Amino acid sequence: MAEHAPHLAEIEMRDNGKLAAEVTMQVRYLADYIHYYAGLADKVESHVIPTDKPGVFTYTKYEAKGVIAIITPWNSPLALTTWKLAPALAAGCTVVIKPSEFTSASMIEMAKLFTLAGFPPGVVNVVTGFGHEVGEPLVTHRDVAHIGFTGGEASGQKIYELAARSFKTVTLELGGKSPNIVFDDANLEQAVKGVVSGIFAASGQTCIAGSRLLVQDSIHDVFVERLVEFMRGAKMGDPARMETQIAPIATRPQFDKIMGYIEIAKAEGARCALGGKAWHAPSGGAFVEPTIFTGVRNSMRIAQEEVFGPVLCVIPFKDESEAIAIANDVNYGLASGVWTQSLHRAMLMTDKIKAGTVWVNNYRATSFTSPFGGYKRSGIGRESGVDAIKEYLHTKCVWLSTDLNVANPFIRR
Ligand code: NAD
Repeated sequence: MAEHAPHLAEIEMRDNGKLAAEVTMQVRYLADYIHYYAGLADKVESHVIPTDKPGVFTYTKYEAKGVIAIITPWNSPLALTTWKLAPALAAGCTVVIKPSEFTSASMIEMAKLFTLAGFPPGVVNVVTGFGHEVGEPLVTHRDVAHIGFTGGEASGQKIYELAARSFKTVTLELGGKSPNIVFDDANLEQAVKGVVSGIFAASGQTCIAGSRLLVQDSIHDVFVERLVEFMRGAKMGDPARMETQIAPIATRPQFDKIMGYIEIAKAEGARCALGGKAWHAPSGGAFVEPTIFTGVRNSMRIAQEEVFGPVLCVIPFKDESEAIAIANDVNYGLASGVWTQSLHRAMLMTDKIKAGTVWVNNYRATSFTSPFGGYKRSGIGRESGVDAIKEYLHTKCVWLSTDLNVANPFIRR
């Protein structure tokens, strides 16, 4: 995978329009995911349990769940597949992958590498097609034991319902409306960069987008001014060019959805401090200008619903308790950012925010070493890190009798 990263990245960039600079780095990194879980494959150790029952030797055994269905969205197809594929293979499972109908090509190409690497036939399989036509039969297939899904909330809900009919297990990585919280004691120069990376990297088409900027009211105006200044010069254009900073939107329906939300925000009374329009590139493509709305109340749709585009809402707050209340007042809980130089504040916020990830004085880092997943409607289960392999394993408990006499059969011990 490391060797073929440039080729895979090129396909992915052409399919979803993501910056070549980002996608190449992302695809190269996938080989590290594989290495990490390959290293874990022989470290799934079971336990001897010092049980309270006399005359038995009891231990656990982990067994591969079986066939895993992996269903992924279009924004980071290979990365989000590998997050599931690597631990599933390390657990001893086989997989059937269904990539997004918008971005299937890179997965088909990556699957060839498993043949080249000498995997037995049938261990890594790919099927392509629409969610309802191909995804649903895969989810409901009797031989599939677990579904690893990343995608939108509605599809996640449907998959969860379908899986429940036959009591399959699921990991669901869904959407977000993550708060990026800037206190007045933060290093503002660093915080501006963190807020930009949170919402404008990948043109906001990322589940961890820090789409709600919560700013302490004492620095609201100066911070917004700095942010607008930073973004005014952002270079939009061809994602293949290394100097491009803002890439196009991946699909026409997604572009229409983002433009729809911009209209909703304006109708709700939010003030547009930057952008708010489509950008017509000379070479074509669906671009949305980096957009910043101020005067947003957390109850507005633009603050509550996932846009999945380069649209930032700015919401002022007075103090820590108001910041916590606003941060948690959404249906989602995927990620969050906190910018402060106070250790006390940082610790308080990491305790109180209901989200699977809290970044303090940084934003958007992920690693194969570190668990990732959501609270509330952002999902179920965790990917990455040592424990992720357990999502693909059954725990079996074995009781060996060390007593020659079988106890009274009418009394449960
Ligand atoms: P989507 O839910 O429309 O599609 C995701 C995948 O699910 C596709 O492969 C699709 O074909 C399949 N699918 C859809 N309906 C299905 C069904 N009924 N049965 C089986 N499969 C079905 O999502 P999308 O538009 O491709 O991606 C954007 C969404 O993904 C956003 O909401 C974003 O937040 C989310 N996302 C989440 C994470 C995360 O890790 N939490 C990461 C990236 C994207």
